[in-house]
Amino acid sequence: MKEESSKKSVVTLLTLIVAAFLGAWLLSFMKPPVVVAPPPAKPVNYRLSPLGKIPDWKSLEAYQGTITHEQFLADLTQYFTCSNAWQEFIEVRKSHALIVEVASDRKRTFRLNFAPTSELEKAPRFWRTKQEMRIPAGKTPLQGLHIAIDAGHIGGEWAQMEERWFKIGDGKPVTEGDMTLYVAKLLQPMLEQKGATVSMVRKDTKPLTSDRPAQLLPLVREQNPSLSNPFYVNKAAESLFYRTSEIRARATHVNQVLKPDLVLCLHFNAVGWGDPANPTLVDENHFHILLNGAFTDEEIGYDDQRFEMIRKILQGTIHEEAAVGGVMADVFAKQSGLPPYPYEPDSRRARNVAGHPYLWARNLLANRLYDCPVIFFEPYVMNSQVVYERIQAGDYPGMLVVAGQPQKSIYREYADAVVDGLLEYYKVAP
Ligand SMILES: [Zn+2]
Repeated sequence: MKEESSKKSVVTLLTLIVAAFLGAWLLSFMKPPVVVAPPPAKPVNYRLSPLGKIPDWKSLEAYQGTITHEQFLADLTQYFTCSNAWQEFIEVRKSHALIVEVASDRKRTFRLNFAPTSELEKAPRFWRTKQEMRIPAGKTPLQGLHIAIDAGHIGGEWAQMEERWFKIGDGKPVTEGDMTLYVAKLLQPMLEQKGATVSMVRKDTKPLTSDRPAQLLPLVREQNPSLSNPFYVNKAAESLFYRTSEIRARATHVNQVLKPDLVLCLHFNAVGWGDPANPTLVDENHFHILLNGAFTDEEIGYDDQRFEMIRKILQGTIHEEAAVGGVMADVFAKQSGLPPYPYEPDSRRARNVAGHPYLWARNLLANRLYDCPVIFFEPYVMNSQVVYERIQAGDYPGMLVVAGQPQKSIYREYADAVVDGLLEYYKVAP
């Protein structure tokens, strides 16, 4: 009996224990789940240039396996950088490169896989190389070529604000933005007559951007809290308007609407002229063409610029730019007689391209943001004695004695040399 009752109590105890476990187990399903809040997402601290966009690294997935290890490294070191500072952000391995996406978080990298053999022609782009264009031989040698002409600066009422204006006594004011527009308007019908489709990035002296300096003042104050003098705050807002916002608006228009094969950025060069109402005239006069490249050590550190550099390399624009730019520079130099602009050989902001004396890589906003080959012309020093006299003589047909010798108007010499350079490059081998 005793044995029987102790057996019974053991069974009861076991039943109770099992029931307790079962109950606890069942209860665990009935209890509301404990929600563990994820740690708040740390905002990504991008380092961006003025009005720069957050880079979309995913968009580079389309370029996977198109460039070889050798080509990537050659373009990066010969054209796109000025020192070894890129190694801080880009690790090149045999089969791939790791590129830092966010400078403030070096662990975030984009992996770019290399191609065993070049597949650059498969890289997505809207523009075509000369070879892809298949221009037919005949009377319209530029048939099928789509050129966008970007007349540098804005001119008109903005010329003084953009510091592209000077005037001597009763002479005509020298305004780069109006002069480039004049050349652009000469060029358009000349190129169309040769069969090209021509788009004007601007047709007048109205800005493309809807921003105006007054609207940009709060941004300037926010980004430069140490800038307290209203004069300098205004200057910075003006610069953000004409130098940055305007070029970004043009790039959006070129990339999303025009989608040309080539952009010609037209400029006139100058050297420091001091007081615009009493400018210094100099003897030096020269010419060079700029292609995108030569990112400075500081520029590589910006998240947007590093991304834009990699995209440029992947689009392969530098090779088409060097080919067309080399021929156009030869023709321009011959017809204008201008010597090359001498950059310092060990410059940390410019790289010579292909040993050509007139061809230099530099990272400008326009040639970086336009998603196609860009030929950026920098001929004539506007405040050289000779060029000043030619500008005062205005436009005229044929030849006139100006600055002591018979010559074409400076505008027609410019336009003729551009057209002849394009004809020379795109001519079909007989
Ligand atoms: Zn300019």
